[in-house]
Amino acid sequence: MTEFNYPSLAIIVPVNNEEDNIIPFYENVQKNLTQDALKSLPGSLSNLKVDIWYIDDGSVDKSLIEIKQIQQVDASIHFVSFSRNFGKEAAIYAGLNYAKNYDFIALMDVDLQDPPALLAPMLKKLVDDQLDIVATRRLDRKGENPVISWFSTVFYRFLSKISATNIVSGARDYRIMTRQVTKAILSMPENQRFSKGLFTWVGFKTEYMSYENITRSKGHSKWSFWKLIKYAMTGIISFSTFPLTMVTVLGLLTTLVAMMGGIFVIVRKLLDPTIAIGGWTTITVIIMFFGGLQMFSLGIVGRYIAAIFLESKRRPIYVEKESK
Ligand code: UDP
Ligand code: MG
Repeated sequence: MTEFNYPSLAIIVPVNNEEDNIIPFYENVQKNLTQDALKSLPGSLSNLKVDIWYIDDGSVDKSLIEIKQIQQVDASIHFVSFSRNFGKEAAIYAGLNYAKNYDFIALMDVDLQDPPALLAPMLKKLVDDQLDIVATRRLDRKGENPVISWFSTVFYRFLSKISATNIVSGARDYRIMTRQVTKAILSMPENQRFSKGLFTWVGFKTEYMSYENITRSKGHSKWSFWKLIKYAMTGIISFSTFPLTMVTVLGLLTTLVAMMGGIFVIVRKLLDPTIAIGGWTTITVIIMFFGGLQMFSLGIVGRYIAAIFLESKRRPIYVEKESK
């Protein structure tokens, strides 16, 4: 990795209605990245310049006001504010876009679920081990809704199986990367973004640091069950065509079974022309079965068409209202 004279780090923090977390987050980062802490980092990092970029994703509370307040006393604070809520993925994209000229770029949640105490060890690891990305994973999901954690675990395992993109169990968006990685991520202009997949897709040398789950400091999670389902679908559709293969195979199998049934009935009728092949119930069941199967398959194909549709509009990933 290249050594820089004045290395710089941008911390990108997506924010959506987090007025109570803006200042605690800032203070916690300050507490962890003190001059002394930076001095203990390898060589060139000892005079690291650290900026925080809050990405205000259409907050309707006082989040932006809080951000502007700390900006007045600390010039290393910056922000981008969206015209409405575009989602965390869009916020990450905007952040990377603004921070692409820093040497190192970190992604963090503002609710302190991503421990700032790890920043210095992550930076050290990045430089010492000559890595491109140091990411994090949670060892457990303590304090989380057990149903949701179960679904998440199953989802990530399933997605890793059906796509070429392996997603490490418990992986978070919390990571530090080099400028080169950021540029690679930005070169993927897709609208339906699924960062965990994109980061794996671009490659580069990545290592994970683990920590125990920390529950949110203030406010509440922005994820509802349906939002998670939608997120999971975007993940599957953007990173795998396995569902399409599955539908094709299912269609082929059912056709084969139907053909065998047909041959069986015809042969029976030919052998004994007097028998009547009855079975209103059988027919109904078969029709319903195939009706359902077809709708399910069409639905899957439809999701891919919807993805094409959304991408083909080439709308911007976010609309900015203000930045500084
Ligand atoms: N977030 C965002 N836009 C959204 C939803 C969330 O920028 O539409 C931010 C949020 O403010 C926080 C981070 O993304 O900094 C993670 O959100 P949250 O804590 O709700 O997710 P969880 O930790 O429950 O997965
Ligand atoms: Mg959170």
